[in-house]
Amino acid sequence: MSATLAAPKFAPPAIRQTKMLIGGEWVSAADGRTFATYNPATEEKIAEVPEGSARDVDRAVQAARKALEQGPWGKMDARDRGRLLNKLADLVEQNLDELAALETLDNGKPIRDSRAADLPLVIDCFRYYAGWADKICGQTIPIRGNYFCYTRREPVGVAGQIIPWNFPLLMVAWKWGPALAAGCTIVMKPAEQTPLSCLRMAELAMEAGIPAGVINIVTGDGPNCGAAIVAHPGVDKIAFTGEHRTAQLIMANAAQTLKRLTFELGGKSPNVIFADSDLDAAVQGTEFGLFFNQGQCCCAGSRVFVERKVHAEFVDKLVSRAKTRKLGNPFDPETTQGPQVDQAQFEKILKYIELGKQAGAVCVTGGNRLPGKGFFIEPTVFDHVTDDMPIATDEIFGPVLSVLPFDSVDEVIGRANNTFYGLAAAVWTRDVAKAHRFAASVRAGTVWINCYDVFDAAAPFGGFKMSGMGRELGEQALANYTEYKTVTMSLT
Ligand code: NDP
Repeated sequence: MSATLAAPKFAPPAIRQTKMLIGGEWVSAADGRTFATYNPATEEKIAEVPEGSARDVDRAVQAARKALEQGPWGKMDARDRGRLLNKLADLVEQNLDELAALETLDNGKPIRDSRAADLPLVIDCFRYYAGWADKICGQTIPIRGNYFCYTRREPVGVAGQIIPWNFPLLMVAWKWGPALAAGCTIVMKPAEQTPLSCLRMAELAMEAGIPAGVINIVTGDGPNCGAAIVAHPGVDKIAFTGEHRTAQLIMANAAQTLKRLTFELGGKSPNVIFADSDLDAAVQGTEFGLFFNQGQCCCAGSRVFVERKVHAEFVDKLVSRAKTRKLGNPFDPETTQGPQVDQAQFEKILKYIELGKQAGAVCVTGGNRLPGKGFFIEPTVFDHVTDDMPIATDEIFGPVLSVLPFDSVDEVIGRANNTFYGLAAAVWTRDVAKAHRFAASVRAGTVWINCYDVFDAAAPFGGFKMSGMGRELGEQALANYTEYKTVTMSLT
């Protein structure tokens, strides 16, 4: 495994926007403070962005409230909101190469992924919710008596949206799409590691004609800036993606104002391979299901349960496949694995690799960082992992896969469910009944059968147990951004 040396065919883009967007103006933090964002492939500084504080959040919330209650947005026909979302999708498509390069620069993900996965999903998500804008309907209800009763679905109001760094633009789309379709206004905080693509996206939103104040971006850290959004009485709802411990802090902080909350959190997803599966397809799906995005996926298939009859064969094939991954310059189109997002994540992952070795798991490939600059970690596979080892219980959020042998269907269902997480699961088998039995028994919000990481804007996504509350994507996400109002009129 070595860093690729080929000359990059894609280059880091010019940075066009480093200010925050509040009320349609590009501004610095009220106290003038800034923080740096770094390129994880080189560890060099890319740019300084404003370090927003409670004062900036307050300005942003006031702008969002004004846009909701006094601006053109609140009066706009639903179909015109959809038209603006479609316009934004068109602009993203026109600027795809620049946005993809920005994502790769700030996050480190391979350019082939940001161009072929992240950005197309972003465009699709905006177009999907553009179609929903004029289809969010109430009902007429036949209540007792001489009354006319109906429900209206109104925007929940100002939505506070706090997103992580692993899919910066896709998280923007998952959050903005349903919120804008429903007619909400937004105060968003991107992650400190990856603010740049969100700011550029906000520029495109302005260019699309989304009125000033509808989308506000405050850059800053979680404990100050993020917590100020959560605490602000002018924010009606918080949509958060990140770690469950952060969600616990947010829930406690939101209790004062009883905000509506939706959470999309982490996981330790089981990926179950039965002996009767197409083993080559299972190996391919397993590699993708864990190593995609450097293992930094909430739904990463990090617990790979393999039926003992095919365990040795599966591990051999998986190791061969993991060794074909190309680590290196994420701007090289041949690269399939970039650096981890930052030093903290890098060190956390290396610590777990050590814990895996100490616990007695067998590291069958990888296990090391690459020498030199950049937060690169080899694709790592541990075999003979047991359910109680830290590498089998904790979300590592890196390219570290654990193989756990099993013997029977009932056993593997019990072990798959033996976690406080419940985000995703996968099963590989040619036996249809077994596949559906597993799908029905596993406590997870998404189950993939003979595939992994198949996402679509129309298919709801979210967690059971401590992996989340509510659902993103699909029709279901509209419920996160709407209130039902019941109207009853006397007909006498
Ligand atoms: P966090 O949950 O800390 O961060 C997610 C977002 O929440 C960021 O924008 C962060 O701001 C913000 N935030 C942090 N603290 C608060 C707070 N008190 N109030 C409001 N907002 C807050 O995740 P990390 O980035 O620290 O990653 C740590 C671990 O979380 C990972 O190793 C992984 O296990 C998991 N994770 C899961 C993700 C998922 O998709 N489910 C995504 C990312 C991480 P900032 O970071 O800028 O300070």
